[in-house]
This record gives sequence, C-alpha cells and structure tokens, in this order.
Amino acid sequence: MTDLPAALNSLLALSHDLGREDRDLAILGEGNTSTRTGPDSFLVKASGSSLGTLSAAQVTACRIAPLVALLDHATLGDTAVDQALLDARIDPAARKPSVEAMFHAWLLTLPGVHFVGHTHPSAVNALLCSPYAEAFARQRRFPDEVVCCGPESVLVPYIDPGLALGCAIRDAVKSSIASTGIVPRVVLLKNHGLIALGATPAGVLAATLMTVKAARITLGAITAGGPVPMSRADVDRIAGRSDEHYRQRALGL
Ligand SMILES: [Zn+2]
Repeated sequence: MTDLPAALNSLLALSHDLGREDRDLAILGEGNTSTRTGPDSFLVKASGSSLGTLSAAQVTACRIAPLVALLDHATLGDTAVDQALLDARIDPAARKPSVEAMFHAWLLTLPGVHFVGHTHPSAVNALLCSPYAEAFARQRRFPDEVVCCGPESVLVPYIDPGLALGCAIRDAVKSSIASTGIVPRVVLLKNHGLIALGATPAGVLAATLMTVKAARITLGAITAGGPVPMSRADVDRIAGRSDEHYRQRALGL
C-alpha cells in the first residue's frame, strides 16, 4: 500500500505542474490526473475542479475494480454512469470523481503505470484537429521524443467523453500493447487531447511537455515544407539503446 499523504502530495504537485497557465496544457476545468494507491484504490481529480489550483478536498479516493468493470457495459446510460462514479468513492462524503475516472482506473492497472495525466494542450490539439493527427501519433521527429514519449503514441478516434471514451481507450491501448509488446507512454485523443502514463509524476510531465514540443516542431515543419520524421530504424535504435535507458532512469522516467 502506498503512503497516502505522499501519494496525494505527489498528485497535487503533478496537477499544479500540468495546470500552470504559462504552459498552456489545460485551462479552467480542463484535464485530470490520477495515481494508484493500492491493489484496488486510486486517487483522481474530482469533477469540476482546476488542475492549477487543485486542493486535497478536490481529490477523490475511489475503488478501481467497479470502474474497470463499467468498461464492459459500454451502453450504460448517463444516469447509471453517474451513480457508478459516486458508488466507486471510498468515502461517500467525497466529491464526485471526474467523468474520465473510468479510463484512469483502467490505465492504472497497466504494468509500470502509477500516475496518469490528461491535458488539452493547444499545440497538440492543433494537430489532433487536423489531417496530421495520424502521422503525428505514429511518427517520431527527434531522439528526446523517443526517450520521453516512447517509439509511438496510441491514437484514439473522437468519442463522446465518459464511458464510451473509456472503452475506446482501453481497446486502442490493448491492441497497441498486443502489436508492440510495450505499454505506451502517450495516448492521443482526436479532437480532444493527450494522456500521459508514467511510473512517476516526472515521467508524466516529461511525456506531456515533450509531446507539446514535438507538436510545435511539427507545426513549424508544416510551414517549412512539410514534416520529415525519423526513420523507423532510427527510432528503434534510440528506444533500444542502453545509454538512453540510463538517461530515462536518471530523469525519473
Ligand atoms: Zn479531456
């Protein structure tokens, strides 16, 4: 079992990092964060709160199993989903968890994933709302992007946020793991935003900021004649290099 106050403090610090106004990752109530705290428990941002100013009272402890089980009932109505979110709270007096708590719960069951951060960065969404979304997700442009974001990102089509989106994220990530053999670090949601998965808050922040940097570079490259990605062989070489693994550990990724 994780030290609860330490997990809460780590989650609040990550939320404040992701919610910083100057970073343009999320404004107002956009985005949400979570961390696993035990075999069947996690902390998630409450509905209607802001990442940049998130307080302990705006974080809700929930059970994982009932929310993961919801993903097998994709057609459940909004009222039933709302009730299930409320029922998953460990303390019935706590605030209602984010409507995205289902995908957080499932992603936190993946090996090596202890923190999840979901944001709506302007630069990333410029590409996710464009014909470049697919290429942006599948390709890598520079070595540090491979180090922080993995060899490719998972792309999910636009789906209504909530239960339906949770199901689509689970299916897309499962099929990515089946074909690549690794847990992705970045999931991109068309016309919506990005989800970063990490063993640590530093890993989530690095994957988020580096995806934003890659998006800015891609937008610049589009105006400079068109993006030229790294070759697959060069991406695989960086992903497999032992000195890059050392650097990942040193950066807390
Ligand atoms: Zn969102």
